[in-house]
Amino acid sequence: MRAIGVSQAKRTIKLIDHPEPQRSADDEVRIRILEVGVCGTDREICEFKFGEPPPGSEHLVLGHEALGEVIDVGPAVQGLRAGSLVVPMVRLPCADPSCGACRAGRQDFCLSDTFPEHGIRRSHGFMAERIVEREKYLVPVAADLRDVAVLVEPLTIMDKALREVEKIQERMPWHPGIGRRALVLGAGPVGLLGAMAFLLRGCDTTIVARSPGDTPNARLAKSVGAKYVSSREVPLRELAAQGGPFDVIYEAAGAPQAAFDALAALAPNGVCILTGVPGAGDWVKIDGGWTMRNLVLQNQIILGTVNAGRDSFTGAIAMLGQMNQRWPQSLRGLITGRHPLESYAELLLEKPQGIKSILVL
Ligand code: BGC
Repeated sequence: MRAIGVSQAKRTIKLIDHPEPQRSADDEVRIRILEVGVCGTDREICEFKFGEPPPGSEHLVLGHEALGEVIDVGPAVQGLRAGSLVVPMVRLPCADPSCGACRAGRQDFCLSDTFPEHGIRRSHGFMAERIVEREKYLVPVAADLRDVAVLVEPLTIMDKALREVEKIQERMPWHPGIGRRALVLGAGPVGLLGAMAFLLRGCDTTIVARSPGDTPNARLAKSVGAKYVSSREVPLRELAAQGGPFDVIYEAAGAPQAAFDALAALAPNGVCILTGVPGAGDWVKIDGGWTMRNLVLQNQIILGTVNAGRDSFTGAIAMLGQMNQRWPQSLRGLITGRHPLESYAELLLEKPQGIKSILVL
């Protein structure tokens, strides 16, 4: 069957003939992949900055943002049948018996760093015509979300972040929750979905990104009710002076300087969530004294978060359902191109076009 394979050893990215996956355990499900999103992580793997094939395989099948349709199921599968739509989870538990996180089913908090991650590290991904996966790593999705469900995985990042911030803010006995004013750094798909999630929670939401206010991303932000500010016009350090500081910041730009500059706009007791994964060597200039002093004197938190557990996959699907009710057009506007698998090189290696590009299998 057709798949997109990256060989780190040979430095190639190719449409390959990959072995047909077979079910071998009773709880396994065979799935036809319908759509796969292309993201920055995929592009970095194609630049060979990141990524690792499964043991014994020369290549890694790429792709971790997917929607599939069940072909058939093993005898122990209870909740899925032929025709069910599913979103596969990305990270699988490590094998280390002493890893409390993976043993508790929370491989997104893996302690051993030996977890397999579909399409990223040590496990093939979803840019393949068919996959086999255990039922417990597949999350069902309703048919009315068929054309947007490929956005579930990038939204799980926000769902996990919101759950974490809610738990953290329980430290304050007057229950402020995530707060009222939210700032998002970056207007890519993760940032835009994050802003929509804040808006669903009733937050006064601002997106800051480098581009001017007339790009499709900026227009989409405004269409859902977010404010859009270009950081070329208003420097991040001056943002709070305009409408007050922000209770929560969601960093989705992968730009360290912007992340640290944004701390100047964080409210007392606020949380700054970091989700970008920049490479090492990106040195930034910060006033360490001022930054540390402010974090301490204002009880602030910088929170890094990666990947997501099953609760955040179901949570993201529920949020996507609400977004579909509230902004059906804008939600669909996030997906700016659907392309056949054969277009992989253009999508993975050339400068990204539009907001979110999808490969259709
Ligand atoms: C994915 C995460 C993954 C991370 C780090 C991101 O693009 O959304 O699920 O854990 O990359 O590898």
